[in-house]
Amino acid sequence: MTLWFQSPELFYSLGRWAGFTGFICLSLLIFSGDTAKFFDRYFGLNRIIIFQRKFSLFIAVFVFLHPLFFVLSDSSFIRYLIIPDFTAFPFAAGAISFYIFIVVMIASKIYKKISYVVWQYIHILIYTLFFFSLYHVVNWGSSSNIIFYKIIYGILLLAVSVGIIYRTQYKIRKRHAGKFYVKEIKIETKDVFTLALNPDKKFTFKAGQFCFLRLNKNKLHSRHPFTISSSPYEQDLRFTIKNTGRFTKTAFELEKGEEVIIDGPFGIFTLKDSDKDVVFIAGGVGVAPFLSMIRDNLFDKKDKDILLLYGAKTKEEIISKEELDSIKEQHFRKIYVLSNEAVSQEGYENGYIDKALAEKYVENINNSLFYVCGPTAMEKHVKKTLLDLGVKKRDIIIEDFFW
Ligand SMILES: Cc1cc2nc3c(=O)[nH]c(=O)nc-3n(C[C@H](O)[C@H](O)[C@H](O)COP(=O)(O)OP(=O)(O)OC[C@H]3O[C@@H](n4cnc5c(N)ncnc54)[C@H](O)[C@@H]3O)c2cc1C
Repeated sequence: MTLWFQSPELFYSLGRWAGFTGFICLSLLIFSGDTAKFFDRYFGLNRIIIFQRKFSLFIAVFVFLHPLFFVLSDSSFIRYLIIPDFTAFPFAAGAISFYIFIVVMIASKIYKKISYVVWQYIHILIYTLFFFSLYHVVNWGSSSNIIFYKIIYGILLLAVSVGIIYRTQYKIRKRHAGKFYVKEIKIETKDVFTLALNPDKKFTFKAGQFCFLRLNKNKLHSRHPFTISSSPYEQDLRFTIKNTGRFTKTAFELEKGEEVIIDGPFGIFTLKDSDKDVVFIAGGVGVAPFLSMIRDNLFDKKDKDILLLYGAKTKEEIISKEELDSIKEQHFRKIYVLSNEAVSQEGYENGYIDKALAEKYVENINNSLFYVCGPTAMEKHVKKTLLDLGVKKRDIIIEDFFW
């Protein structure tokens, strides 16, 4: 009697199924990457990027299971996987795709360490991967003559082609979108500065959105995300940046007139059209999107009631304190919450933003929208606190600075 794990037919079928599923998912991953900038307005680019990272791990399972099941069904497969047989090119195309997939996976894990130029070449590899896989499934796949499969492959080819066209035209449009030059670097606190850029064309964005910044120096080609801290009505484009590593240090040392390459704006961490009260909960440099929203609210005379709960270690580490203190509008209230300094003064609290503090200052907890941005630990703690207080999940909007 043959047991199920001794059945070559079963492993063969599983191998086909894994290959088919992996190919569909891979095509969708490529499509979602190429059109991410389009879908940003609905889901937020950060969510799309996080989804892609998790989805690519899911796909990896199928990509590895596909040859593994075939090897389990017939061990002679392994020879052709290790040394592709080019006399059977459609089969070899599958083996090549497998190796390209591994290279792309490794590159996406270390993308912050490789240059942007290399990353762009790797993108071309992704398309090579798709077309080799397509060639493999169409010419080698045992079901490719069935009309259902033909339609699926046709749809996937169309989706990937649309993605490539979208990406290409986006890149062309970006080239003409304008240049940005350093106007000023203003020191905010001991490790935070504001980089003010002068755009040569009008740059349109919504308060709370972020951009990718690139510098053409110190081999720092990889793009880094930063939230715009100026309001959409200002001439300058400002970013409030914490000096954490190589990129931010180089940005701090930029000279007046140097160019910064900007891609954006992106993100949906913007004020929603709602009658609910607005509560901003910021930690450290996480105040950047709120500075933009507050400045926007004041400039545009939108009299939205805003409460800012702003956590910092000490008084000295409060970013743009002078400006925040100078706002005398009735519909803006702020509380500084200091964790490393004891201050007994109106407008200050000691410790962390917790349940008691939220209950004390948020007038209408169940009719408020909470926008949260700060260190990950703080975001998690605040979210839990608000949920415990009965705030609905959909009323808590979080911007994560650490992908
Ligand atoms: C949507 C978003 C908005 C942000 N807005 C701001 C802001 O307004 N002000 C601010 O100071 N910081 C902001 N950040 C964080 C900022 O991008 C990182 O601190 C910065 O890229 C660190 O670069 P570094 O080389 O100086 O530091 P490193 O020491 O190399 O990195 C420190 C940490 O930054 C993150 N990081 C590094 N490189 C990248 C990258 N290419 N892409 C994404 N994350 C990276 C990693 O989590 C890393 O552990 C934001 C991040 C995101 C995702």
